[in-house]
Amino acid sequence: MKLSNYFLPILKENPSEAKIKSHQLMLRAGMIRQSASGIYSWLPMGFKVLKNIEQIVREEQNKAGAIELLMPTIQSADIWKESGRYDDYGKEMLRISDRHERDLLYGPTNEELITQIFRDNIKSYKNLPLMLYHIQWKFRDEIRPRFGVMRCREFLMKDTYSFDVDKHTAEFSYKKMFLSYLKTFQKFELNAIPMKAETGPIGGDLSHEFIILADTGESEVFLDKNLLDIDVNEVDYSEKNINEIIERFSKFYSATDEKHDVNEFEKNVSKENQLRTKGIEIGHIFYFGDKYSKSMKALVNNKEGKNINPQMGSYGIGVSRLPAAIIEAKYNGTFMKWPKTVTPFKVAIINLGKNGDEADQKSNEIYQNLINANLDPILDDTSENPSSKFKNFDLIGIPYQIIIGSKLKKDEFEFKEIGEEKLILSKEEVINRLKEIYNIDK
Ligand code: ATP
Ligand code: MG
Repeated sequence: MKLSNYFLPILKENPSEAKIKSHQLMLRAGMIRQSASGIYSWLPMGFKVLKNIEQIVREEQNKAGAIELLMPTIQSADIWKESGRYDDYGKEMLRISDRHERDLLYGPTNEELITQIFRDNIKSYKNLPLMLYHIQWKFRDEIRPRFGVMRCREFLMKDTYSFDVDKHTAEFSYKKMFLSYLKTFQKFELNAIPMKAETGPIGGDLSHEFIILADTGESEVFLDKNLLDIDVNEVDYSEKNINEIIERFSKFYSATDEKHDVNEFEKNVSKENQLRTKGIEIGHIFYFGDKYSKSMKALVNNKEGKNINPQMGSYGIGVSRLPAAIIEAKYNGTFMKWPKTVTPFKVAIINLGKNGDEADQKSNEIYQNLINANLDPILDDTSENPSSKFKNFDLIGIPYQIIIGSKLKKDEFEFKEIGEEKLILSKEEVINRLKEIYNIDK
């Protein structure tokens, strides 16, 4: 993409309505624009980031054995009346009526709808265990939408639902999702700590929130620093490995303020390992047994030929909250650096030349070579002055830059990873290095 052809409305100043750095950056770097309170449009660069995040979430769900489908955003009120949540959900639910005065709603979550789909189509234990998920927009009429896409009203969520014949296998489904969440967040270079949580309106008795540590977070959290060092990258989904890794996590203390127990914290965590800070919730998992399958009469035949209500769980990831969460973790107020799994472009070419001069020609040439190598570049071919080009790219946060001015020899290119020293490389070296970084074989 050439910047001169792109739609990237960059703001020079921090907008006054943005109180935290992720909101500031997303507005300044032209990623999002608010259209109504807590409702946002995703501009091209923000949308690319969102799509990349969505894809990683999807891949990890698939690896854990969940199957993707798509449910609508608008739901009938009838199923919510069946489960009893139509009244319970209160003002956060956006209620609509159609021209026939039928009650509809914009889904804040999908336990009812997935239970209905399950109930109408699955009758036998032989189809279990089953994990279904979708990635779809939700609406919650939050009382105080704030911090941009971090706490908004319309947001993209990945929600998975598990169905099992008994408690034991249901727990295993829960654990699988637990591991898949850790793996997903690790791909975003985020240190997400699982914390025991209240189940709230979803109900049930087992629940964890996945929280990243950030000063701007809304939850107060307490944890053992040992939790920060556990790597799950190599752990596969075998029962033994899943149990082992969860056991490791459960050895160390972690709690949000709702569940915090000062005495236990003092007793079980050494002084130097005690960490009190703030956190951002990026995922939340629940096991709630037959709460919905019972009230909505979903039944399967078990091995003994008896009809039983399946055991269920639900598992959410705030897909559209993640760009903001990643920024909170990676942006120091001057430089942003996207993880390479998420970056909107793989490499930025900063052309400091003028129309037709040598630097300009070099820029266009390497731009073409990078496209051919599947290295999705963005070329700054605008006539802005060099210092504002550099400033813009510090903000945009593409992790790798090729800077092309007039000082270097014909086959010399300045290559820079954000936050690291500049290198002088030949064109071939630049391309090979990027291919290696992004795992591109061709
Ligand atoms: P919170 O405690 O932040 O209000 P929640 O517990 O109500 O969230 P869940 O029902 O657990 O949310 O939803 C799953 C995930 O969806 C959350 O972990 C969060 O990442 C995301 N999410 C929830 N509400 C919002 C919102 N208003 N804006 C953006 N993302 C949200
Ligand atoms: Mg939650």
